Amino acid sequence: MDTCDNMSSLLVDYINRRLEQKENIKVAMHLAQCDRCRKEVAMLLSIKNVVQKSVQEVPDDILSSAFDMIVVEEKASYFDYCFDAIKTVKDSFSIVRKTIGFAFDTITV
Ligand SMILES: [Zn+2]
Repeated sequence: MDTCDNMSSLLVDYINRRLEQKENIKVAMHLAQCDRCRKEVAMLLSIKNVVQKSVQEVPDDILSSAFDMIVVEEKASYFDYCFDAIKTVKDSFSIVRKTIGFAFDTITV
């Protein structure tokens, strides 16, 4: 079984359907048997929904004028940028999780 640490770096790309088929299957199989990673995916999806919703709530005239100021290539990567930001947050949570795990292991020994 793949470890959660191996999966962690793939989960953002998994929910954004950016994985190769082989990796996609690997993640799906891991999620089928790992509650911890399923919870992480659920958290990522809720963050993704909030980001999408907040973009949708910007009035069209403001959104379109703001987007008009962005060159075409940057528009295409706008959502990638949002999800890369989410990945940074997720990585931070991962570090916090490891730190708490280390502290817990240290305390309980
Ligand atoms: Zn896992």
